[in-house]
This record gives sequence, C-alpha cells and structure tokens, in this order.
Amino acid sequence: MERTFAMIKPDATERGLAGKIISRIEEEGFNIVGMRLVRMTKAEAEGFYAVHKERPFFGDLTSFMSSGKTVVLALERDNAIKHWRDVMGATNPADADEGTLRKEFAESIERNSTHGSDAPDTAAFELGYWFPGVALNAG
Ligand code: ADP
Ligand code: MG
Repeated sequence: MERTFAMIKPDATERGLAGKIISRIEEEGFNIVGMRLVRMTKAEAEGFYAVHKERPFFGDLTSFMSSGKTVVLALERDNAIKHWRDVMGATNPADADEGTLRKEFAESIERNSTHGSDAPDTAAFELGYWFPGVALNAG
C-alpha cells in the first residue's frame, strides 16, 4: 500500500464540488486516512509550493490557494501516487483527458480543482506538511 497527498482546491469547494470529488476518491478504491478542511494562510501556501517559488505564477497561485477553503487528504491504495494523478488528469484542463476530474471540473490551468503529489519524495513532504505523523507507507 502506498500513500499520496491530495487537495480539493478553493475553486472546487467554492462551487460545492467537494462531495462529488470525495465520492470519486472512494469509487477509485482509495482509503481516506486523513481529511481536513483548511483555510490556508498565504505563508502556508508559499511553504507548501516552495518548489515553484521561481515560477512566474507563484504569487497568483499562493493568493488563490489562500483565498478560500481547501480539503487536504491523505489517501492510501496500491500505486496511489500515479493512480491519483491519472484520475486528476493534466494540469491544464484544455489538455486533460475525458473522464478526469480536471477535464470535468477545472476552470483554468490555475483554478484546476485538485492537487496530487507527483512522486514519492514530494508525497512524503506534502503528507508531512499537512498531516504530521502520517508516513508515505502504511505501517
Ligand atoms: P500539478 O498540480 O499538475 O502538479 P504543477 O506542479 O506544475 O502542476 O503546478 C502546481 C499548480 O500551479 C497547478 O496545479 C496550478 O494550480 C498552478 N499552475 C501551474 N502552471 C500554471 C500556469 N502556467 N499558470 C498559472 N497557474 C499554474
Ligand atoms: Mg505538481
């Protein structure tokens, strides 16, 4: 069993899509091992997205992420990291495949409804950032 870190971003909570996205998480066979509603501060968003701090969209992204409610989740299943990335689809909804969450729900490349860790090292960092004590692999 592997774990990954996921978020339901403010554009989605704002439109009342959290329930639909959580249903999809359960339908995909993930065990939800942690879930919390947060209203992150700009500083928390900057710390979380520190790997992107040199990117031109960093300021806008961290403002967006601190503009409303986010559901943070720790998810477990086999091949969790890749499976969740596949369920979300491409970063830009214009490139996302049919049947993916971002194709269905994302408003733009920035307001793209969901987040998922992209590799084991980022998953470990991101899980620890929001769920201290929740490790990458189930005990
Ligand atoms: P992903 O979330 O698919 O892993 P990235 O790690 O590249 O994508 O980017 C993190 C987040 O930053 C994206 O989910 C999106 O909200 C935002 N973002 C990425 N690229 C852009 C861009 N070109 N313009 C605006 N926002 C962006
Ligand atoms: Mg990423």
